[in-house]
Amino acid sequence: MSTEPPRDPIAEYDKLNSELLNLQAQFANQKMPQQEFELLSKQLKDRISAADANLHVAARKDPSIAKRLRLRSYNEPTVQLIISHFVRTSGKPIEPEFGADRFPKYPIAGISGEELSVERSLLQRLADIRGLTQSLYERVVYCPRCQRPSDIFMRLKCSQCASIDISISRMIEHVSCGTIHQEGAFRLGSSMICPTCKKLMRNAEEYRLIGIVCSCNVCQAHFEDPAQSYFCRKCNYDFDLLGAMIIDVFAYGMSTDILNEARKSLGISDLTKTLSESGYQVEVPGVLAVSSKEVLFSLIARKSAKTFAIDLVQSDSEVDVEPVLELYVKLLEATAPILAILAVMPTLSKKGRDVAALHNLTVAEGSTASEVTQRILKILDDSSAAVS
Ligand SMILES: [Zn+2]
Ligand SMILES: [Zn+2]
Ligand SMILES: [Zn+2]
Repeated sequence: MSTEPPRDPIAEYDKLNSELLNLQAQFANQKMPQQEFELLSKQLKDRISAADANLHVAARKDPSIAKRLRLRSYNEPTVQLIISHFVRTSGKPIEPEFGADRFPKYPIAGISGEELSVERSLLQRLADIRGLTQSLYERVVYCPRCQRPSDIFMRLKCSQCASIDISISRMIEHVSCGTIHQEGAFRLGSSMICPTCKKLMRNAEEYRLIGIVCSCNVCQAHFEDPAQSYFCRKCNYDFDLLGAMIIDVFAYGMSTDILNEARKSLGISDLTKTLSESGYQVEVPGVLAVSSKEVLFSLIARKSAKTFAIDLVQSDSEVDVEPVLELYVKLLEATAPILAILAVMPTLSKKGRDVAALHNLTVAEGSTASEVTQRILKILDDSSAAVS
């Protein structure tokens, strides 16, 4: 019997990706014939997409895997924009807009306020890892041939000969005398007069709409339920509900809990970039093994055998004491010396600063990501240069 420990789907996925990078490096260094490279890289890519699908299945079942995937995804530039949207609008859902092509688009504001469109697949991926909540917004019929919604018309057809050349009239009942007739029989200019009792009907309560009746202008058939189908003008293709592609279109929101988790990572991509350029080895999110468990930081930077753990917190107003305490607690069990920095945008409360000073925690504040980044870089460089 096998006693292999259960494999970590995230590690599995990362391993395949680094194998692919290695392979590409080998090929680039001309250490591998083209044909062999193409075959191996195709195999690896297939395994990577299978591992990716597997990850998302695992994330739906296991909240801890979902959380790890979220923390990784927060660092992606587009995801940072999505988080900024929710911070700025205090959690207003991202709703689809349908342009002339009727494909759903998800507009959000970019860094300098310009409008950007976010891919539906990205929002869906974030929903899979519980970073976003989704609510059904609309269902759209797509053509099964061209897979587009843009030229679809709903058709009502003769139930006998399937012509679309049919007349549809409403059936009306005069409430006081019980006469039932097609609407046309009641109409006299803009007035409604009962064809039986000749009474003028002054308001809508005097008659009832009781249904429709159709007649075919081609075969003269009369019927109540016209056949329904869809027609794509682009493909000249008629299809019914059974053959239609029906796409659920969602609006995406972010719960308060997730927003609090996600906003901590804003500005991380700036920070990562600057620190890497200054020769630090950066890991996002930063994972430290502390006595038998793993502790997560926004990022960890390493240089000349020194380790720096950084938590980044952003708020639309002042940041209070909680993240200071959180960082303090995380460091309690650390055995090796670590310089921990709490990076705060825009400012830390008085109480937060007092608690940080009490526990010897370094704080870097700044009103923008680049300001915070510069402060952190200075603290790190000073500390790296210091003789330990
Ligand atoms: Zn079509
Ligand atoms: Zn007909
Ligand atoms: Zn009447």
